[in-house]
Amino acid sequence: MLKIYNTLSRKKETFKPIKKNQVGMYTCGPTVYGPGHLGHARSYVNFDILKRMFLYNGYKVKHILNITDVHDDMIKKANELDITIRKLANRYTPLFLKDLADLNIIPANKYPKVTEHVPGIIRMTQALINKDYGYVEKDGSVYYDVSKFKNYGKLSGIKLDKAKTGTRVETDKYEKKDIADFALWKGWKKGEPYWKSPWGKGRPGWHIECSVMASKYLGKTIDLHGGAMDLKFPHHENEIAQSEAANEVRFVNYWFHAGLLDIEGQKMSKSLGNYIEMHEVKSKGFNPLSLRYLFLTAHYRSKMNFTWKSLKSAEQSLNNLYQKVIEIKTGNKKQTARNEIMQSYQKKFLRSINDDLDMPKALALMWNVVKSKKLSNEEKYKIILDFDKVFGLNLAKIKKPSIPKKIKDLVKIREEYRKKDDWKKADRARKEIKELGYSIKDTKEGSKINKI
Ligand SMILES: [Zn+2]
Repeated sequence: MLKIYNTLSRKKETFKPIKKNQVGMYTCGPTVYGPGHLGHARSYVNFDILKRMFLYNGYKVKHILNITDVHDDMIKKANELDITIRKLANRYTPLFLKDLADLNIIPANKYPKVTEHVPGIIRMTQALINKDYGYVEKDGSVYYDVSKFKNYGKLSGIKLDKAKTGTRVETDKYEKKDIADFALWKGWKKGEPYWKSPWGKGRPGWHIECSVMASKYLGKTIDLHGGAMDLKFPHHENEIAQSEAANEVRFVNYWFHAGLLDIEGQKMSKSLGNYIEMHEVKSKGFNPLSLRYLFLTAHYRSKMNFTWKSLKSAEQSLNNLYQKVIEIKTGNKKQTARNEIMQSYQKKFLRSINDDLDMPKALALMWNVVKSKKLSNEEKYKIILDFDKVFGLNLAKIKKPSIPKKIKDLVKIREEYRKKDDWKKADRARKEIKELGYSIKDTKEGSKINKI
């Protein structure tokens, strides 16, 4: 049984797809006005693990991830740089896709852009006006009247303040205390890009894009919608209000929210300037997959605290794992894998990942396999690669690092001294090898050389 926590019901629920063996999944993508930071990386890795969990269970997954290329933040940044929003998006969208690839994230089926969906946005806005949920202001903006939507607040649990009914919030992002009518369409202001609409020149508000794209690509009711925890309000609450008012059916069956990431014990925020961007991880010499490993060590819904020290320790664990996998891969494979053993491990693995993605438990199970004295190398290797379909640590691709000729020669020299019982010179060779960054382990099958 596959269970997943549904933010809407606030409990773990058995997953039931709309169409047998298929999952339609929509996740809110980035606003492409700057490089992605580690908070984004954690969310996208968690969505990827969710998707891989479905795939491991035999589902076909259709995944849509939108690119927000028109937004308050886009316009502000483009104006600062004195370029168009299109140019700004073209600068940062490829960077975002590169981050996903570095984190070994399976690409979405489609990355729709807001600027390519303006006619659909106008149509849904018009439908909301026709149904009396939307109203037009003098400046050509269209607002959503939240007091008209009976279930407003059902996802985030916020309650409408009657006293505030009729107040409007102009910005795309706002706080809980500002709950008010929000913009579906924004009337044109000088210095802003615009499209022609029945209400004059203007541009889409932020929230409407996801309602329009989700229904266009996945249908009016979708299986699962994901986003970072801080999108629950107002963004997802507004998406529900728009979609359910316009389409008159339930919008999303399962709401999946990924936990946020603190940096060195503090909330990530613009005012603190403590954003760590993805490229910093690489420029500091880390393997981006160490970040993926680090994220796997915490439950996706929990808040996580990032420190450089924790990343370093994750990288050590990952390298240790790579080393073990190489040893298992190149070790004795005389004993073939026993089917019943393989299946029992698969079952245990499924029990962890199908229990609302308990990845820390699944990771511990993998380490049990690696260290097991009962399993043969063949069994270990097959089980590890099978689990890695969900972990996504690229374990099938690890190659034994090639040993430089100089080291190989030194090892040969050392062997000769050892044969002659010249321990002093043999030890000197060992030290020299160590200084060059390699260690030697003497085993029954001969000396094994490893990079330190
Ligand atoms: Zn969204």
